[in-house]
Amino acid sequence: MWWQRKLKSERYLSATFDWIYAEAGRILEKHRPCGVFEGGRCHFRCNCCVPCQYLSPTGCTVVSLSCKLWLCHRAEKEFPECYQDLSSLREIAMQNNLLNDVPETKEDALKRILGTKPASRKLA
Ligand code: SF4
Ligand code: SF4
Repeated sequence: MWWQRKLKSERYLSATFDWIYAEAGRILEKHRPCGVFEGGRCHFRCNCCVPCQYLSPTGCTVVSLSCKLWLCHRAEKEFPECYQDLSSLREIAMQNNLLNDVPETKEDALKRILGTKPASRKLA
């Protein structure tokens, strides 16, 4: 039945999304490429979340895999092992079409992949 296949693929995508997100969290926790934020800025004196509709005064309000797997060029260079580990996860995410060029909630990512929402193309 089509709806059973759709449910199965939705569950698979959801579980894959959660697994990649958790793994990325472990990698970021280990390497801390963004350092400690002070005054809303990382140790490179930047906040790459600005501007974003999901940013609140207390930080990010959503679970965005595209953001979790992204590093700026400076962090890529200064934390190559972190970048490598995140790149491996990015490969898996791309194979499952879970990455977007813009910040994207998990719900929107699943809708996009399952065909109920169009893809966006510009990263904020
Ligand atoms: S990704 Fe780069 S610019 Fe963004 S918070 Fe981390 S270190 Fe700063
Ligand atoms: S969605 Fe991405 S860019 Fe927006 S606040 Fe969260 S982490 Fe930052």
